[in-house]
Amino acid sequence: KLFNEIQDLRGNIRVFCRIRPFLPGQKEKKTSVEHIGENGELVVADRSKPGKEGHRLFKFNKVYGSDATQAEVYADTQPLIRSVLDGYNVCICAYGQTGSGKTYTMTGPNQATKENWGVNYRALNDLFDISQCRKGSITYEIGVQMVEIYNEQSFVCLDLHTLGIMTHSQPNGLAVPDASMHPVESTSDVIKLMGIGFKNRAVSATALNERSSRSHSVVTVHVRGKDLKTGSALIGNLHLVDLAGSERVDRSEVTGDRLKEAQHINKSLSSLGDVIFALAQKSPHVPYRNSKLTQVLQSSLGGQAKTLMFVQLNPDASSFSESLSTLKFAERAA
Ligand code: ADP
Ligand code: MG
Repeated sequence: KLFNEIQDLRGNIRVFCRIRPFLPGQKEKKTSVEHIGENGELVVADRSKPGKEGHRLFKFNKVYGSDATQAEVYADTQPLIRSVLDGYNVCICAYGQTGSGKTYTMTGPNQATKENWGVNYRALNDLFDISQCRKGSITYEIGVQMVEIYNEQSFVCLDLHTLGIMTHSQPNGLAVPDASMHPVESTSDVIKLMGIGFKNRAVSATALNERSSRSHSVVTVHVRGKDLKTGSALIGNLHLVDLAGSERVDRSEVTGDRLKEAQHINKSLSSLGDVIFALAQKSPHVPYRNSKLTQVLQSSLGGQAKTLMFVQLNPDASSFSESLSTLKFAERAA
């Protein structure tokens, strides 16, 4: 229902803002969140300014306060996931500074308890459930691929032939090879596979010093349905994207590899912003080719595709300037 309402209002792009709670053990801190409205209003406050002077109002499709559960967040996402089985392409991404809850929203803190599951596992679980229900009339094949985009190159985190080893995929090529698409039949298959993929990512993360916050993680789910009566085929694509941290890096303080990384992140995030902005404006020219990220996501951005961006905020007043730049980025798309 929510999705249809939003689609009427804004075409195929929607923006949900989620504020993470203060973490347990943190001393009582000042928050930059002043007010959350029923209809997607968010007022943030610059606490260094007196009274209402530092207040700023933003409007999104939905704003989740720090007490929102994974299930509540997913309930609004679910209609999009279901449309993948009807042959739509869908992109769901999480944007925000490092530590703002992107991975919590997309993957969750751990897989062990279902309540903790993020969008990824819930989405796959739903796809299996629904495909099971439709078994009498449509049969579905579902495949999963995991790719990391780092410094404008994509790396396959799951490789069919060499499971457990990260391989370098076509640095100049557009797409990521089909060979890395893994057939899955249940949520536990997915959890197993993603576990391997995330571990591959983690290995390189220690080697390259917390690389995970400086690369984009893209889980792609391919759905191929076949109508048993008519024999016609239907294909849907779902991209689940945990973006690199959006924090601004002080150019005067970093050099060499770190500067290069920061420039690549900046370029890809601003390219994504430009693409989403062009789509929101219904511009005839959509600049997909400016970054690896937007090339990889192209099939699920624009056209008939449905796009959802989670805008993640750290509630701490000391993060206000990062939060403000995150909100300004998201505002262009909303
Ligand atoms: P990011 O991926 O943006 O760097 P994380 O998802 O790793 O951020 O979140 C940072 C920390 O905050 C983690 O310890 C995570 O478990 C916690 N956290 C984030 N969002 C929530 C939430 N909604 N509820 C509880 N803890 C959260
Ligand atoms: Mg993360």
